[in-house]
Amino acid sequence: MSEKYAIVWFRNDLRLGDNPALAAAARSGLPLLCLYIRDEESAGLRPLGGAARWWLHGSLAALEANLENRGAGLTILAGGALPIFEGLAASGAAARVYWNRRYGAAEVALDSAIKTMLTEKGVACESFNGSLLHEPWEVTTSAGMPMKVFTPFWRAAQSKREPASPLTAPKSLKGAKPLKIGGLKPVSLASLKLEPTKPDWAKGFHEYWTRGEDGARERLGDFLDESLDGYTDGRDRPDKSATSRLSPYLRFGEVSPRQIWSAGQQHVLSDRGGESDFGKFASELGWREFSYHLLFHHPDLATKNFQPRFDEFPWVENEAHLEAWQRGRTGYPMVDAGMRELWATGWMHNRVRMITASFLVKHLLIDWREGEQWFWDTLVDADPANNPASWQWVAGSGADAAPYFRIFNPVLQGEKFDPKGDYVRRWIPEIAKLPDSVIHEPWEASAAQLNAAGVALGKTYPKPIVDHAAARERALAAFAATKGTEPPIPKRTRRS
Ligand SMILES: Cc1cc2nc3c(=O)[nH]c(=O)nc-3n(C[C@H](O)[C@H](O)[C@H](O)COP(=O)(O)OP(=O)(O)OC[C@H]3O[C@@H](n4cnc5c(N)ncnc54)[C@H](O)[C@@H]3O)c2cc1C
Repeated sequence: MSEKYAIVWFRNDLRLGDNPALAAAARSGLPLLCLYIRDEESAGLRPLGGAARWWLHGSLAALEANLENRGAGLTILAGGALPIFEGLAASGAAARVYWNRRYGAAEVALDSAIKTMLTEKGVACESFNGSLLHEPWEVTTSAGMPMKVFTPFWRAAQSKREPASPLTAPKSLKGAKPLKIGGLKPVSLASLKLEPTKPDWAKGFHEYWTRGEDGARERLGDFLDESLDGYTDGRDRPDKSATSRLSPYLRFGEVSPRQIWSAGQQHVLSDRGGESDFGKFASELGWREFSYHLLFHHPDLATKNFQPRFDEFPWVENEAHLEAWQRGRTGYPMVDAGMRELWATGWMHNRVRMITASFLVKHLLIDWREGEQWFWDTLVDADPANNPASWQWVAGSGADAAPYFRIFNPVLQGEKFDPKGDYVRRWIPEIAKLPDSVIHEPWEASAAQLNAAGVALGKTYPKPIVDHAAARERALAAFAATKGTEPPIPKRTRRS
């Protein structure tokens, strides 16, 4: 019988550094089978969107290369994870299995079933926290309950022990040879067909992203050196490069929040600037933690209103409006620029995510789940916790959400956060020659201004598909109509 090996099951932790599962497997001294499973069969797993599949391809390719450089390859299998592990256990060669945890309900159920099966068959199985600063169940109210409001959540999280120091990447790994994997057939990365071909709509993405752990390290270093100092003021400006753009790397675990936390603190302690900005940046990681806390305690975050009052909300079905929004053709430059940035790069600036999401939900009264699904399919960082939590936050239906009556005016948002119109001009070249004074509201331009800029409203660029003031009134009325469905506030009983 061939030698026994340890399996490291990679999932949303596609890195060698600060990978507790990999580190524990390496410590076992057994030869390693580094495994990725493309599972499209297990019940309840949300299929990845197109842009995230593109990202995953590059991320797996980078992981494979990094593992090979250290002496172990990446074995890719396709199929349901439970039957695959049953096969691996039956082969008798798997001695131990290690993975880092996931937090969606279907993933937790699947991992628990696999752990139970392996344990019954005598295969030791260990799981770790590889993707959060604190486990979602560690942060609670003083009564031990899950939290619903961000500020006390983040305060409670910060009052816990400091996040553990990140683990260094193993310098060398002992790969299992020959692989004896119970009759299971490894497949090539290419055969998974994760990247689009005809048409290759992701061709332009390469200009913006270097997928993989090395790309993440470089991006983190650049951010700390160039943008941490000034992050607090700059982070709302889509016309600047002021945020980290680490979101897809965090989504697929090419960098861990502990690595970011530790590198940020070292940067600040070595007097390289950003002292006053690190707290703000760290609190954004806090929003990520909060989103995972919500997902863990409310598994149907992507499909069900957090506040049941919104179950009665009179959403409007309007295919033409939905498509205009998706294609960046609403006639509101700030909205259209964001939707086009998303399509061209697989990413959108946070401020513009809020503006575009608010426009869909409040100006068009289209159900937030439509927008969530579109972002899910088009974002390279499409995240099972951050995406639904953020959509519900914007819609007003979420935990600690923005109040529904706060309706962004896309013109004022543009004037405030893209004051010279640079962002809009980058993504909507057909109106780039309009003067700054009307760049966020082309319908206010004079005939002479439109002529001089070569803009024919309704032809080269759309007229607004809804009027802001009227849409605002309609949204407020719709919201008022749902109020009646709220459970009545109990009256105080007065003692006479
Ligand atoms: C409608 C909507 C949908 C969103 N969908 C996603 C999504 O699918 N995936 C995703 O990672 N983020 C999502 N966000 C949150 C946020 O917009 C992105 O995380 C951020 O823009 C990523 O850019 P960055 O890495 O430069 O952020 P930075 O400002 O550099 O922040 C650092 C990290 O903190 C985390 N973070 C920042 N803001 C938030 C936030 N509001 N909520 C949760 N985590 C946050 C991210 O992991 C981010 O990479 C969404 C926001 C909105 C309004």
